[in-house]
Amino acid sequence: MKAIAVIPGKPDSIHLREAPKPSLDEVPGGRGVLVRVLCVGVDGTDKEINAAEYGAPPPGHDYLILGHESFGRVEAVGPAVRGFAPGDYVVASVRRPGSSLYDTIGLQDMTTDDSYFERGINLLHGYLAEYYVDAADYMVKVPERLKAVGVLMEPASVAEKAIGQVYEIQRRLKVWRPRKAAVLGTGTLGLLASMILKLRGLEVVAFGLQQAPHRNSDLLEEIGVRYVSTKTTSLRQAAAEFGPFDLILEGTGFSPLVFEAMEVLAKNGVLAMVSVTGGDRKIEIPADRINQGFVLGNKVAVGSVNASREDFEQGVADLAQAELSHPGWLGRLLTHPVKGLENYRELLGHLTSGNGVIKAYCEVSPLS
Ligand code: BGC
Ligand code: ZN
Repeated sequence: MKAIAVIPGKPDSIHLREAPKPSLDEVPGGRGVLVRVLCVGVDGTDKEINAAEYGAPPPGHDYLILGHESFGRVEAVGPAVRGFAPGDYVVASVRRPGSSLYDTIGLQDMTTDDSYFERGINLLHGYLAEYYVDAADYMVKVPERLKAVGVLMEPASVAEKAIGQVYEIQRRLKVWRPRKAAVLGTGTLGLLASMILKLRGLEVVAFGLQQAPHRNSDLLEEIGVRYVSTKTTSLRQAAAEFGPFDLILEGTGFSPLVFEAMEVLAKNGVLAMVSVTGGDRKIEIPADRINQGFVLGNKVAVGSVNASREDFEQGVADLAQAELSHPGWLGRLLTHPVKGLENYRELLGHLTSGNGVIKAYCEVSPLS
């Protein structure tokens, strides 16, 4: 079968190749599901992998099949599979268990192992291919009526995990009633997180670089989220005017913002960090002030990576609700479709062009 792969460690090595078509019996115990890939989204992680800054091939291979944001249709299932049948639409999670305690209870997104197994990223092949096989345990069904936006399920799961962690942490307060949230970053993740927080009934302010109006600010305003450009208004000014923020989600990839967010976070508030920042940036921060604010305000900062099965399920439920309350909105995040695996150059190009791109994705095979 055809697949898009890179040679990890070799910059800009993205290429189309022939790879063996996976078969059901690769999964022990008859638990395998064979999936025909329909759509696969790409993000900054894929860009970094192709730049040889991140990622590793499976042991014994010199190449890594890319792609971790999957959406596909079941073609065949092993004899022990329950709950999935040919024709079902599915999303597969990304991380597979290692050996820590958390991995053994299905929370590999919380692994304490030094190395982790992620399909399309680290040590396991991904989904940018005609087919994949995996155990049913790592798949979540997507209703047919969400198929047009199924490729958003993986990024939605990452937002769900971060938000879910915040609510889990806030059980410490017995009566937490968050009113206002700030979302830093207005890419796919920021847009989906803003939508999810609106569905939870919060007032949301989203922060981006560009001055409004533009595609992302329009989308946000349509669902009742206030957009603020950090070119004209600092986080501190916005917090004074529109805060205090009980919850801040930082996903810009610009790590200094984390410390600004710590300063403006409301008492008893939570800051959730989701940017994977591979650089080596150093800045000066008002350490005493931030520390004192955290102590006297009982604040929490939490990091969040990847997503559990429950987060995927919550993502499916929330995207269904989003589609009902704002029909067509999710579909407008799918700005840059690329037809066919052979157009991988165009696919990756969208990640660097930055021009009005929200979600670039490959239509590996037709949706219907
Ligand atoms: C993926 C996550 C993954 C993380 C770190 C992100 O792009 O969406 O599933 O855990 O990268 O590798
Ligand atoms: Zn990703």
